[in-house]
Amino acid sequence: MRGAPDTIILLRPRSTRQALEVFAQNPHAVPLAGGTDFMVSWNMGLHNGKTVLDISALRSWRKISAAKTGVRIGALATHADLQRHPALRREFSLLTEACSEIGAAAIQNRGTLGGNIANASPAGDSFPPQAVYEAKVHAVSAQARRLIPFNEIFVGVKKTVLRPGELIESVEIPFLKPRPSRQYFRKVGTRAAQALSKTVAAGLLWLSRDGRVSEMRFALGSMATMVRRLKSAEHFVQGKKLTSEVIDHACELLAKDVSPIDDVRSTAQYRLKVSRNLLREFLSGR
Ligand SMILES: Cc1cc2nc3c(=O)[nH]c(=O)nc-3n(C[C@H](O)[C@H](O)[C@H](O)COP(=O)(O)OP(=O)(O)OC[C@H]3O[C@@H](n4cnc5c(N)ncnc54)[C@H](O)[C@@H]3O)c2cc1C
Repeated sequence: MRGAPDTIILLRPRSTRQALEVFAQNPHAVPLAGGTDFMVSWNMGLHNGKTVLDISALRSWRKISAAKTGVRIGALATHADLQRHPALRREFSLLTEACSEIGAAAIQNRGTLGGNIANASPAGDSFPPQAVYEAKVHAVSAQARRLIPFNEIFVGVKKTVLRPGELIESVEIPFLKPRPSRQYFRKVGTRAAQALSKTVAAGLLWLSRDGRVSEMRFALGSMATMVRRLKSAEHFVQGKKLTSEVIDHACELLAKDVSPIDDVRSTAQYRLKVSRNLLREFLSGR
């Protein structure tokens, strides 16, 4: 069945206050931002008979602003907006790089960061950077607002901790102090554009003066039901020099924190092998 416009109720609030009030009265309405994911399910008729809350006119939620402690990205900022923002390009290049690899130009011009998160696909490309930057998600409803650590927002495939009547307002990313010694992003798909990830990685590494690891953060997408930080490998390398033995063992430990599957895009075996290669590339600084 295709999408049938005459079966839906479309709500188009003009202010954030109005949006939250209307959502409180219709807590099961489906939010609509850039529509890139929405239109896929719309075409399958999955929204027929539903109420749709179009939040795309909430201009203040498209702003990206830098403060003393970090950058705040409005939920309606598009992947193209993020790539153009100087502070994001300078301080959080893993995220702008990820945005430049989402779909292709048309998707980047319409798709929003808030929509990418709320859609909660295991293959969301912006997720590994947000996981290693330890972003925080500002969620709001008519009754309350709360700050959700990015690493706690997902509970499963297409599932988040957002409650009925709650919207993502913005994402906050704290500046990194000190700056990392090494940063890494790599998406592996079938093509350079319009390809969902087989695996997608982001890493940050801080080395002390004597070459020991003072901190490592590494996250993988498309390797489990949701983005995963490699806690076992992160913990193992702490305080160690990155010798070939240490790198080998960290790559072995990778499997402890992920559970890749065979699907239309790849096999579990390929995903594991390539992800280990990415971690090795990152740790050996090649
Ligand atoms: C051809 C194609 C290629 C793609 N390629 C990629 C890719 O390579 N990598 C990738 O990561 N993604 C990809 N996507 C997915 C998509 O473009 C992104 O997830 C996009 O960021 C979604 O944002 P949107 O504004 O379009 O969301 P919408 O489609 O408007 O909404 C998506 C979901 O989020 C909810 N929602 C939206 N905004 C909010 C909010 N502020 N608060 C609460 N809920 C909200 C909606 O109800 C809906 O469930 C692709 C999609 C298409 C169609």
